[in-house]
Amino acid sequence: MKVPKRLVLLVFAALLAPSCSTSAPVEKSPVSGKLALEHVKKMVSYGPHPAGSAALLRVRDYIRGELRKMGLKPELDSFTSDKAKGIQFHNIVCRIPGTRKGEKRVLLLASHYDSKKTQGHPLPEQNFRFVGANDGGSSSGLLLEVARYLKAHPLPVEVRCVWFDGEESIPFDWGEGEMAMFGSKHYIKKLRKEFPKEKDVVEFVPVMILLDMVGAKDLSISLDTNSDMELVRIVANTAKRLGYQKYFFREKTQVTDDHIPFQNYGISVLDLIQFGGERTGTPTWWHTERDDLTILSAKSLEIVGHTLVRSLPDVVKKFYK
Ligand SMILES: [Zn+2]
Repeated sequence: MKVPKRLVLLVFAALLAPSCSTSAPVEKSPVSGKLALEHVKKMVSYGPHPAGSAALLRVRDYIRGELRKMGLKPELDSFTSDKAKGIQFHNIVCRIPGTRKGEKRVLLLASHYDSKKTQGHPLPEQNFRFVGANDGGSSSGLLLEVARYLKAHPLPVEVRCVWFDGEESIPFDWGEGEMAMFGSKHYIKKLRKEFPKEKDVVEFVPVMILLDMVGAKDLSISLDTNSDMELVRIVANTAKRLGYQKYFFREKTQVTDDHIPFQNYGISVLDLIQFGGERTGTPTWWHTERDDLTILSAKSLEIVGHTLVRSLPDVVKKFYK
């Protein structure tokens, strides 16, 4: 085949310039890391805010106020637990209606908004000032920004954003008497009542995606082996398409978090979380005083938010046929 000289030059130029073309962003993120970080800063400004605290009431009012500003109608889901006497818990639930006619199914997006309780514990090293900038703050701020985007660009199905209360354990160490994840355990029971038979929960809520610790400067979202691998694949493909693959799923780890109560009812779950793995181990700031605004970056929040909102249409295609 005879190739015109001009085409040969063009092909040659294209071969010479692969690094330039791959480093250019595929598209501008429709989700703003800067706005997400502003939300986190505000929540952190109220100081430590464990379940039942006055500071958590202020964080809750902030989240609800921001949702109302977007024209959304957040609801409070208030409850108590025999395992945590004297604490009144409140999940914040916000529905973003879908566009498909007659569609009843729901996609859950969630974060916890309480910060770890680091006062009144027996050992001195368990008591310190903890604001949870990344652990509780980053995902709660990003979920607000994602809600803003989805209100303007709704999916075919309802997206229900939930900010869980009481994810953090009441004793310092996790796992003691299962005194943690109060909000998520309560909410799955509430959903079962909304869709009475157990199988109906899965039918109406096929997917739950959890965000947790998504704003660190050294962003590296773990591959949580408890998550549904099809959901992991969808997000990995989106990240690759957007040029973000180096931030996702480089290390495997098994995470117990607010997604597990939903998985126990057969719902396909995904936890987008930075929790290390065999190589890097648990992040050094985790559950320490160092989890403050200095470890966060707007860019990291934007990478996770961008990847999430561009993954959602594929999640709907696959799980909401
Ligand atoms: Zn935590």
